[in-house]
Amino acid sequence: IKKIGVFTSGGDAPGMNACIRAVVRTGIFHGMEVVGIHQGYQGMIEKKFINMDARSVRNIIQLGGTVLKTARCAEFRTPEGRAKAYKNLQEEGIDAIVAIGGDGTFTGAEVLSREFDIPVIGIPGTIDNDLYGSDFTLGYDTATNTVLEAIDKIRDTAASHDRLFFVEVMGRDSGCIALHSGVAGGAEAILLPEKETAIDDLIAKLEAGALSNKSSSIVIIAEGDKNGGAYNVAKRVKEKFNFYDIKVTILGHLQRGGTPSSFDRVLACRLGYAAVKALVAGESRKMVGLRGNEIKLTDIQEAINNHSYKLEDDLVEMAAILSI
Ligand code: ATP
Repeated sequence: IKKIGVFTSGGDAPGMNACIRAVVRTGIFHGMEVVGIHQGYQGMIEKKFINMDARSVRNIIQLGGTVLKTARCAEFRTPEGRAKAYKNLQEEGIDAIVAIGGDGTFTGAEVLSREFDIPVIGIPGTIDNDLYGSDFTLGYDTATNTVLEAIDKIRDTAASHDRLFFVEVMGRDSGCIALHSGVAGGAEAILLPEKETAIDDLIAKLEAGALSNKSSSIVIIAEGDKNGGAYNVAKRVKEKFNFYDIKVTILGHLQRGGTPSSFDRVLACRLGYAAVKALVAGESRKMVGLRGNEIKLTDIQEAINNHSYKLEDDLVEMAAILSI
């Protein structure tokens, strides 16, 4: 392999820049040229290529977002779009790619690799922590800490006014951020996409808390909770519950940004380094991941097929008990 292309795709996640830096420098160390592809598959189709040298990635290890930018690209889902993308890669002399993103990004990379026999390695980058084959994905630790910081601040005002706060956090299908930030923030209840929560049960829990002298409560709601989000839950609880003043906070996109945590930076470096080493070793269609603090390769197809949510049952059970 003489020239590798690296790109970020799907939702941005803190740690992507540290990962790009690791890919570029490891590639150069191994005598390869490295090309940055702007805006993921869209840039592949539009030939937005930029040569990266070791200095091109200086001072980015601490930055959130992605300097290569990211995009969602409908055209790449078509055979014509992928043929165009591959032609551009060929013209540029790119003979292997490193894709940083979620399961959609991996699906695209896998299809491209099969159609045109180009080696690809995937790096799990998504704040949702919902990829099989890695205990953690890039950005998840930072996003959870960002949410936790917000919960702590909301608690100050909740406690001062005897208020009940419903805080909505990211996670359409995965409750990882909600569960972990909720446990760490001492939430009264945590509503997850993976588990149905009956509003009457929630009200009973909140009432028991109020009657046992709780001065405030915080309920964390993952955006994919089946009750329809924080505003809907608040509205339904309000109909029957009149102990405290009820407020809603939707944390939204602030959860994606910010400077990556040390955990995410180290993970990003390890995964970027391992991805290039895997290409050097002749691997393809694999995802690099962290399992039990070791870097492991998983077939990219297996990672996609088992796209799963890894909520720890003991945390779910414990969260309910520690909040009595
Ligand atoms: P996140 O988890 O943050 O949403 P993701 O990588 O899953 O990240 P997607 O938008 O699902 O984000 O996928 C990124 C891009 O991958 C898509 O915009 C599309 O260009 C490409 N892609 C997704 N699925 C396919 C597919 N079945 N075939 C070809 N390309 C695909």
